[in-house]
Parts: sequence; C-alpha cells; structure tokens
Amino acid sequence: MNVKDVVIIGAGPAGLSAALILGRCRRNVLVFDTEQYRNAASHALHGFLSRDGIAPLELLEISREQINRYRTIELRKIEVVAAKRSGPHFEVQLAGNSMVFCRKLLIATGVVDILPPIEGIESFYGRSIFHCPYCDGWEFRDAPIAIYGRGEHGRGLALELTAWSRNLVLLTDGPDELTPHDMERLRSHFIKTRHERIVGLEGRDGMLQQIALETGGKIACHAMFFSTGQHQHSPLAQALGCEFTEKGAVATGKYESTNVPGLYVAGDASRAVQLAIVAAAEGAEAAFAINTDLLKEDIAGPE
Ligand SMILES: Cc1cc2nc3c(=O)[nH]c(=O)nc-3n(C[C@H](O)[C@H](O)[C@H](O)COP(=O)(O)OP(=O)(O)OC[C@H]3O[C@@H](n4cnc5c(N)ncnc54)[C@H](O)[C@@H]3O)c2cc1C
Repeated sequence: MNVKDVVIIGAGPAGLSAALILGRCRRNVLVFDTEQYRNAASHALHGFLSRDGIAPLELLEISREQINRYRTIELRKIEVVAAKRSGPHFEVQLAGNSMVFCRKLLIATGVVDILPPIEGIESFYGRSIFHCPYCDGWEFRDAPIAIYGRGEHGRGLALELTAWSRNLVLLTDGPDELTPHDMERLRSHFIKTRHERIVGLEGRDGMLQQIALETGGKIACHAMFFSTGQHQHSPLAQALGCEFTEKGAVATGKYESTNVPGLYVAGDASRAVQLAIVAAAEGAEAAFAINTDLLKEDIAGPE
C-alpha cells in the first residue's frame, strides 16, 4: 500500500502554506483542490503583509508556482468526497471512487458565506458588497455605507463599522429583531435603521449606488456590508468526528490539532479571525506540528 506522509484537503492560503512547509521538510504531500476559494468573487486582497491589494487568484497562482518547484508536493484538482481513520492511517476517498492513504490529514477546506437573498447581488459581491470591514472597510472610509443584518448580528456589524464611517444605515429587510437597548445604542451612534424589504440594487460595474426598498424609497450608498452567516465548506471534519465551537468552527487546540488523533484543521474552517494571512499562518503551524509528530514516530525506539 502506498501511504503518503500527509494529505491536505484544500489549496487556499491555509492548505498551500502547510504544503510549502511540509514539502520543505521532505515529506511527501498530496494536496487536493476543487478551485472553490472563498474570496473568488473579490478583486483585491487587503491586509496581507507585502501583498496588500493583490488579486486573490494571483496570490494563489504565485503560491502554486513556488510550490511546484518542490517535487515532494503534488497538487491535484479533484474533490475529496470522504475520509476516515483506518488503523494507523487515514483513507481518503476521491470523486470517481479512487482512494489514497496517508499518515496525517490536514483539512483546510474553508467556509462558505451565506449571501443576503437580494436579486442581482452577485454583480456587486466582492466589489462593493462584502462581509468583512477589516478586509474592505478602508476603501469606503467616510463613505455612506449600508449594513445588512438583523438582531444582534446587524447591530454588531453596524457598530463595528463606526471605525470606518459615521454615515451608516442598518437595513433589516423585514423584521429587525432589535431590542429597545439595541435601538438606543444604534441611535446614540447616529446609525439609522430601515426595516422595509429590499427589492433591488442599483449601480455600475459592480459599484453600488442605491438600494431600492419596496416602499419606493432608495438608500444612497457606496458599499454594503452584511452579516448573514456562513457554514463549513465541506462536511469532512464532521464526518471524521471533530468537535465544533458554538460558532460552527472546528475546535482546534495547540498547533491546529483536533480531538481526532492525526487530524489537523487550519484556516477559516477552524478560526474566528478569518483573514488570508491568518489562514496561511495556521497552515504553517499545523505543518510544523505534523512534521514533529511524524518525526517522533519515525525516530521512536529505545532511548
Ligand atoms: C468577498 C471576500 C473578500 C475577502 N477579502 C479578504 C481580504 O481582503 N483580506 C483577507 O485577509 N481575507 C479576505 N477574505 C477572507 C479570505 O478569503 C479567507 O480568510 C481565506 O480564503 C481563508 O483561506 P482558507 O485556506 O482557509 O480557505 P479557502 O481560501 O476558502 O480555500 C478552501 C480550499 O478548500 C478546497 N476544498 C473545499 N472542499 C474541498 C473538497 N471536498 N475536496 C478538495 N478541495 C476542497 C477549495 O477548493 C479551496 O482550495 C475575503 C473573503 C471574501 C468572501
């Protein structure tokens, strides 16, 4: 049986960063990728030291090009459909039913954002509609910004955005689910609230100009940030028996280890701070721990 040292599922910043470190440790590494990166709709990746503003796909292209220099690392564009522990190894099943085996498994499959249910939102998503002010708030500083969300999620994001603009309106697109205390806090920061249903988005070349409400009113804004949730991109961690946090992230301990021996989870799938540079750092951390584990196994013996 041909057993790889490490299989990495996912080739975003977390998976590729882990692959680079492990490949340089002379581990034979197999990386699987379905080319569904979380920020594929975005045109510029911000806050990644030395790469601020780079196109997200270009960052991955550069990373892949550098990784391809290592013959210890193989990248395959195929979906992993199942994985389980089998004795000392993991069995990883690929689309089309072939199987690979590995000593350690790293899941770096990311998350998927739930977009607000507004017709035509895809044309603006990643250009002037976003979920993360840390990623895209700077570009709209002091501009009129709409926030989409209900209850504590909408309130929380609206208050957070006061760091970037004081020209804010919270749109709840139906029942606001806000408490009197929430309303008071929003009012005290001059954040307006509108609960009318949204019927359309208006703008040019992906840049939002107005949001149309069912009552005929229009909200002028340059950007909209939303808080409507996310879910794991793949069910693999759950199927393998991982524990989860109450926010739906895989619970990880030191160096991205999980409660399943030999299984690590890095990147957005396991973290609250969801930034590409953090995902890459977690991938490197997991790689460090994986190599240490493998070394211990390889050199185990009488002292
Ligand atoms: C619109 C938008 C803008 C953003 N802007 C920024 C920004 O400016 N700055 C910043 O730091 N962050 C930004 N982010 C966040 C950033 O995209 C994530 O933090 C980062 O992509 C996380 O990397 P990851 O490797 O964990 O996951 P991802 O990049 O999502 O990669 C997941 C990988 O897993 C693969 N995969 C999933 N399931 C399977 C499977 N079953 N088999 C094989 N492969 C699989 C996918 O194909 C992909 O290769 C933004 C996100 C969005 C949505």
